[in-house]
Amino acid sequence: MTVLEAMRSYMRRDQIFEFLIPDIPPDLDLTHGVILYLDGINVSFDGFKAINDLNLYIEDGELRCIIGPNGAGKTTMMDIITGKTRPDSGSAWFGQQINLLEMDEPEIAAAGIGRKFQKPTVFEQHAVTDNLELAMAGDKRVWATLNARLNGEQRDRIEEVLQIIGLENHSKNQAGSLSHGQKQWLEIGMLLMQNPKLLLVDEPAAGMTHQEMDRTAELLTSLAGTRSVIVVEHDMDFVRSIAGKVTVLHQGSVLAEGSMDEVQNDQRVIEVYLGE
Ligand code: ADP
Ligand code: MG
Repeated sequence: MTVLEAMRSYMRRDQIFEFLIPDIPPDLDLTHGVILYLDGINVSFDGFKAINDLNLYIEDGELRCIIGPNGAGKTTMMDIITGKTRPDSGSAWFGQQINLLEMDEPEIAAAGIGRKFQKPTVFEQHAVTDNLELAMAGDKRVWATLNARLNGEQRDRIEEVLQIIGLENHSKNQAGSLSHGQKQWLEIGMLLMQNPKLLLVDEPAAGMTHQEMDRTAELLTSLAGTRSVIVVEHDMDFVRSIAGKVTVLHQGSVLAEGSMDEVQNDQRVIEVYLGE
């Protein structure tokens, strides 16, 4: 009997998991209804201030759109939230207890922040369901070998995610055969397998047909509520169709915040961005 087999005989799965990965962060504490706090964040690259005293608060269950001209700092902001870039100063908290600036990228992902990059990175040679299954294992390779076979709960989860992303009729298809939009949805599905509480999505509508954009807006809207979603997007029609609160970034700071109508009629926003 291996050590792992012995552990399985008397420990629950979550107990084994905690045993194997001891640095589990504190539980997400949402007692104040805020899932993300960025306070006074500054980042310079070779003396250029990419992020300049950035303050951003995202509520639990909120769907927030971030817009702003090229170079405004949108991607850098996501890099800070996910631990890819360390700010020079400021603070970043996930709920009340989790200090993101003390964690590395895998720890932040494990704590419940998922990020979707612009280019889909699905496993093209594998079926849609296999992609979701692989995503469930994630980086937890030990975990995957502990559960070589999927249990019923995991199968249900895959079915549920297939429905959410609207690919239930494509589950056996090779991911490589999907349209660009469907690949984007599959990648969102892969993130959902990890059950993140905060989802960051960079330019989801880029390269999509109008129909795919409508479907994506619906999908992101449906994800909010049980989780929070931050969407960075250039396409104004898309942002309008999502209809959440909009934050305008400019030169690394928040220039304006409000409904799409409010920010579109804001004179400063028109000058730096929409009036272009
Ligand atoms: P956005 O996503 O809003 O277009 P970015 O966050 O990508 O803006 O970039 C903000 C600014 O910071 C840009 O001027 C960009 O050139 C600069 N920048 C971003 N990342 C780096 C880096 N790793 N090194 C140097 N400059 C960078
Ligand atoms: Mg960017």
